[in-house]
Amino acid sequence: MTNDDGTIDIWGGLYKFTENVASSEKPVRPFYVPSELPLTIASVLYRWNQSVLPNDCSIAVCPCDIESVTKMWHHTWGPSHVEQPTRLQQLYEALDKDLWEKGFRWQTISGRSLTDSELSLVHSSEFLNDFLAIEQGKDLSHTNALLNFTYANPDFSFCSVGPYITSACRVAAGSVLALTKLAISGRIQHGFALVRPAGHHSQSDKSGTFCGLNNVAIACIAALSWGAKKVLVVDLDVHRSVGTEEIFSRLEKENRITVERLLLIDIYATFGGSHKAQGPTILVPLMDEKEIGDQQYFDAFERVVLPKAKEFNPDLVLVSAGFDAAKGDAEGFQVTPRGYQELTMQLRLLGSPMIYVLEGGYDLSSLCSSAVACMNSLLSPIPR
Ligand SMILES: [Zn+2]
Repeated sequence: MTNDDGTIDIWGGLYKFTENVASSEKPVRPFYVPSELPLTIASVLYRWNQSVLPNDCSIAVCPCDIESVTKMWHHTWGPSHVEQPTRLQQLYEALDKDLWEKGFRWQTISGRSLTDSELSLVHSSEFLNDFLAIEQGKDLSHTNALLNFTYANPDFSFCSVGPYITSACRVAAGSVLALTKLAISGRIQHGFALVRPAGHHSQSDKSGTFCGLNNVAIACIAALSWGAKKVLVVDLDVHRSVGTEEIFSRLEKENRITVERLLLIDIYATFGGSHKAQGPTILVPLMDEKEIGDQQYFDAFERVVLPKAKEFNPDLVLVSAGFDAAKGDAEGFQVTPRGYQELTMQLRLLGSPMIYVLEGGYDLSSLCSSAVACMNSLLSPIPR
């Protein structure tokens, strides 16, 4: 839609470009004028933050401050991309309508920005240098570390993500750290980090598809430095978490972690490659299954995930919570909200503090119903 002043509205009015990027020419560098955070999110956050909570409230959602959510809201890969800011809007609204309005309550935790030294816990110095250059608004079309920002958004120039992506990345990872610290200190039992961009495809020295910083990997290493003895990552995203796997493998080779202290269990049905795991990783491929739905995930839990998790006996569980195996997502798999609810309850029965961290899932309806189901499970009493 062309505005009266000649600028173009795209992506439902979320962004305005001050140059015409719709021509057949190679995309030019756009100048974003990000829109304000939608009033619906702001009013949800306001009500949550104003509420008096019961004393035994041990579940938390992060981020719940306007500044952090706005930073993630401002980042877009460009129009028509499936990983869109509206994912967050729909998630906050769904949690409010389907749980908060029905009387469920959770602590509202403010997000924070990741520091450079925290970023360097898992990412290389080259990665950090490129990240800082983007943050300063430099044109880095030639860089390798963050080239996937372009790959994830092939219709636009590298610069179309602009410096906004870096503040979104810092808040995404910082919010996971905020919840992790509360879990380690015993101040919460479970948490859900509603963050974007995702992280589990990002490796030590390069970003992965639709991903920024490896939020979960950073939280794992931070947790170990804060006193956690054993951290388990369960990756439920339908895509293989090659980033987390590579990072853990490298850290193990560098003797910075041991398999006794950090374990990744990755259930996946696509982006397979060789099923040979690197480092402290147990792969649970579902590629050969005829149909992939609740039963296949339940079987994988019974066969591998739960026995290995119990044997490992973690004092913190981080879940890479991708919902792209959900029924309704374009990947075409069939996991239902009921399935995600049950899987979450199975993980709760391990008895460890647990943080859910949003990864993939791009159909807005199935994304929301799946995340609500997991949150419902985190909030519900454990059946006796
Ligand atoms: Zn995915």
